[in-house]
Amino acid sequence: MATQQRRKHGPHQALVARLLGLLALVLMTLAVPSRASARDRAIRVPVTIHVATHEGRSVVSERRILASIRRANRELAAFDIYLDVEKIQPMVGGTRIETPDHRFELARRAPRDGTVHVFFVDRVRLTSKRKGDRRVSGMHWRYHGLIKDIRAREYVAVAHNAPTTTLVHEFGHAFGLAHDTNDDNLMCSCRRGLDPAFTERQGRRLRAGARRYKKRNRKR
Ligand SMILES: [Zn+2]
Repeated sequence: MATQQRRKHGPHQALVARLLGLLALVLMTLAVPSRASARDRAIRVPVTIHVATHEGRSVVSERRILASIRRANRELAAFDIYLDVEKIQPMVGGTRIETPDHRFELARRAPRDGTVHVFFVDRVRLTSKRKGDRRVSGMHWRYHGLIKDIRAREYVAVAHNAPTTTLVHEFGHAFGLAHDTNDDNLMCSCRRGLDPAFTERQGRRLRAGARRYKKRNRKR
């Protein structure tokens, strides 16, 4: 019995250790210096990253996770918003998000801790067209219902093969942005151009949305 347990534990522990290493790497590269003049305006958003695993291995490469976070912070830094990754942790299963039940199940794994919960998974499929991304590589959702534990919180999911712009696109939704039709815009749901960005107007909305998020999730 003990050996069986250990066998189950071994790869998991190793994965946790590797993800901790990744977190250290993220923290190092994310020490983005805030522009001094604007330091008091900086909005820092705490983030927890969950990485889906299959047979003890993460379904998304660490390089891609890191690239997505760096990209998001590069784009958001223009508006003095910073994602502070507090935790990167493996989750058993949860590799696909294809039904509302899948989303619900993931949301329930995410403790109410004031962080935006990001799930890196194998596959994402939309069930409603409301927030339809034509190229579905990511998703953002929240609940408006009555279940206290999960409502009015932000959840973001990114597929294993998503472009590095997907994470920041989904944060755009989380902070209130709708789609844009320009392919040089990060909120385009089309195949985005080579160097898409947010507009100044979107930047102002992002800041308002990020502030709203922090207010809603303030520890009581
Ligand atoms: Zn979208």
